[in-house]
Amino acid sequence: MNSDLQKLIDLQVVDARIAALKAEVAALPQQVAQIEAKLAGSKAQLEAAQAGMKADEIARRKHESDIKDQQEKISKYRDQSLKVKTNDEYRALNHEIQFAESEIQKLEDKILEIMVATDARKEAMKQAEAALKADTAANEKEKDHARAQTAEDEKQLAELSATRKELRSSVAEEALNHYDRVLKLRGSATAPVHEDESCSACRVRLRPQVFQEVTSNEQIITCFYCNRILYYVPPPPKAEEEAAKSGKAKPAKEESVEGDEAAAQ
Ligand SMILES: [Zn+2]
Repeated sequence: MNSDLQKLIDLQVVDARIAALKAEVAALPQQVAQIEAKLAGSKAQLEAAQAGMKADEIARRKHESDIKDQQEKISKYRDQSLKVKTNDEYRALNHEIQFAESEIQKLEDKILEIMVATDARKEAMKQAEAALKADTAANEKEKDHARAQTAEDEKQLAELSATRKELRSSVAEEALNHYDRVLKLRGSATAPVHEDESCSACRVRLRPQVFQEVTSNEQIITCFYCNRILYYVPPPPKAEEEAAKSGKAKPAKEESVEGDEAAAQ
């Protein structure tokens, strides 16, 4: 094979790998940001659950203090009722006592509601805490992974850059310039040609004479349509031939085993 052609094929492999690695490195910070956003979400959920608990606690204390107030009123009314002179006054005080008692009942119902809600809130908080703990651990693990991946990618990039430089230094300038132009324009600069006699990148069919020239792999030939540098890849050996070969080889090997014959005699 033409040495420049081989180097350009290798260069294409290296350039494609470099592009893929650079894309991966560029995507990693975004991945880390997504992990952070998820963690912030579970933190916010836990904080909301905690705030709900706190609000309930404040409300419960307020209701308890209101009950105390009503109880004090009741005992005051009872004291007064001992000193009243008329039935009307007595009835009025009794009415006040009943009203205060019904207020206490309402407040006690409210406290009961809060207590029932508290159980659900406690469960929600427990779940939020567990989710946050799991997300924090996953967050650290994924960030470590992202960091390690970046380091590995950077290392590979450095190695590939060295290989790339070496390859480029020994290719004829004209061929290299053509390669660079097409790579920039089309994202790839070389294209294999198979038995179908077409450029595998743009699918255009080559003229028979061009195809013949390409099969030798001895010159730099470009696709007349997409300008990529063409190289011929011979077809792999047919499966039938392979099977025929291995089919013949096997019994021959078994026949040569003398141990079995000796054992039979
Ligand atoms: Zn083409």
